[in-house]
Amino acid sequence: VAKAAGRACFRFYDEEMNARAVEQLKMEEELRYAMSSNQLELRYQPQIDTATGTVVSMEALVRWKHPDRGMISPLEFIPVAERTGQIIELGDWVLGEINRHCRYWDSLGLPPFRVCVNISPIQFNQDDLPKRMRAFLESAHIPANRLEVELTESAIMNDAPANIKKLSELKELGLEVAVDDFGTGYSSLSYLKRFPIDTLKIDQSFVADLDTTDGAAIVDAIIALSNTLNLRVIAEGIEQKDQLDYLVAKGCHLLQGYYFARPLYPEDVPDTLQQDFSADLTPKPQD
Ligand code: C2E
Ligand code: MG
Ligand code: MG
Ligand code: MG
Repeated sequence: VAKAAGRACFRFYDEEMNARAVEQLKMEEELRYAMSSNQLELRYQPQIDTATGTVVSMEALVRWKHPDRGMISPLEFIPVAERTGQIIELGDWVLGEINRHCRYWDSLGLPPFRVCVNISPIQFNQDDLPKRMRAFLESAHIPANRLEVELTESAIMNDAPANIKKLSELKELGLEVAVDDFGTGYSSLSYLKRFPIDTLKIDQSFVADLDTTDGAAIVDAIIALSNTLNLRVIAEGIEQKDQLDYLVAKGCHLLQGYYFARPLYPEDVPDTLQQDFSADLTPKPQD
């Protein structure tokens, strides 16, 4: 009986794996088509400086406008693109779009602001990433310090010694470097000090947990660490006034979240860029 059950179980597992493989294959094909037929789009989410209440940077976030399925989240298709290697091409497309949009904003006479771009661990692990970034910067004519690359903590901490060198190469190009989803990985603090980075981005799960003792303690620790290491610190995923008040009181430098703005169409960037958020940054009266 056990043997039969085992076999049935195995077959079930097998079929499920098969179904998943077929689905991935389908998505891989659709994604290839999507990249060549303008189904991918970028949105830009503002980052607000707590010192001035103004937008100083924007994070580029990719979307897939699927003809049948509607908007597909990057959480769904980035992992597929990573498994199939399509993330390399996708990453190049994202940079190209950022260049196009920067030129558009420049043409409107907007003051230049920083654009943050997510770099997948797969892209980061490519030996020629610095070379590719250099080629991009040369052809795009975007000043390198206008771009900040966001790398996840786990991506840079895996093989830290080699990554210090790679990050240095990116820094030498003039790029800004942020560590995304900070606090979720296993950073060695001694390495963190040696990493040539500019920004720590507090993972949104800690912002969501700010109403718990542990969540608040972790946020406090990351802000303190940033100050010690002379890094810029940003919190993402801010949805509520209480979270905002806490982060401002603790001296967090930059803020990002639905509370201020959702990821925007490029055409909506100019209006938001000129908005003054300072009234939001004053704490709500305590009762
Ligand atoms: P991430 O880089 O950590 O981006 C933050 C995510 O939080 C974004 O989700 C953003 O839309 C969302 N978000 C922003 N404010 C709030 C808020 O107040 N509340 C909540 N609940 N969420 C908020 P999104 O756009 O779905 O992107 C998910 C992830 O996909 C990103 O996480 C990033 O890892 C990846 N991704 C997005 N665009 C790209 C890209 O162009 N290239 C690569 N390699 N990865 C990307
Ligand atoms: Mg990010
Ligand atoms: Mg993040
Ligand atoms: Mg993330």
